[in-house]
Amino acid sequence: MSALTRLTGQVMRGLLVPKPVVVQEAAGFKVRKFLKLRCQYCYFVRVNGRMHVECTAQGRHKQREPFNVKLLW
Ligand SMILES: [Zn+2]
Repeated sequence: MSALTRLTGQVMRGLLVPKPVVVQEAAGFKVRKFLKLRCQYCYFVRVNGRMHVECTAQGRHKQREPFNVKLLW
């Protein structure tokens, strides 16, 4: 009986351990040379002189332009 309670205690403790949350906010952008709106919720936004495509419905619709080195000079 005591072994069983110890086992369940271990299981409960295992459930209480927080899992590491994978945050992929900045890395979620697809880099595309030609941006495209993929659904009705996609919209263009200009960030740091570049065009981004954000989407409120599907996060995987997010795209951004590749960094244009020629714009620096
Ligand atoms: Zn979209």
